[in-house]
Amino acid sequence: MMFDEDVALDMIRSSIVLLLSEKPLHGYGIMKEVETRIGRQVNPSLLYPFLKQLEKNGLVESTRKPVGKKPKNVYELTVTGKKLATRIYKRIASMVSMAIEPNLSVCFHCGCKIYEGRYQETIDGKERTFCCVHCAQAYKNELSSTAQLPEEN
Ligand SMILES: [Zn+2]
Repeated sequence: MMFDEDVALDMIRSSIVLLLSEKPLHGYGIMKEVETRIGRQVNPSLLYPFLKQLEKNGLVESTRKPVGKKPKNVYELTVTGKKLATRIYKRIASMVSMAIEPNLSVCFHCGCKIYEGRYQETIDGKERTFCCVHCAQAYKNELSSTAQLPEEN
C-alpha cells in the first residue's frame, strides 16, 4: 500500500472512532455517516476488521440489535474507547491550529490575531500590518506623541 493511502486511511479510522463517540452505530450506518460527512467511502474490508480490532482491544463493544428486518451488530465505544476519541479530538485540534497559525498575522498596535481583513500601511518606511484602519491611526498617533517627548539624558 502507498504511504499516502495509509495516512488517509488513518484519517478514516480516526473518523470512525469519532462517529462512535457521538452514538452507537452498526457497520452500514458507519459507512453512510463517513460518506455523507467527510465524503469518503469506507471499504467494508477495512471497516469490519477495524471494528473487530477495536473490540479486541477493549475500545468498542458490540451488541446484536434488530435493525430493520434482521439483527445487526451495533458498535458502541467503551470508557477506554471514549478516552481514545478525546485523544483524537485533541490531536485534530492541534493539527488545525498548526495549519492556521503560520498564516496568522498579529496587529502591530493591539496585538490581536488577524484572521481576515488585515490593514497594511507603510509607516516610516516599514510596512506594518494592523487589524483595522483605526489601529493604524492609533499607532501613528502614539508614534507622533512619543516623537514630541523630550529625549532622556
Ligand atoms: Zn488592532
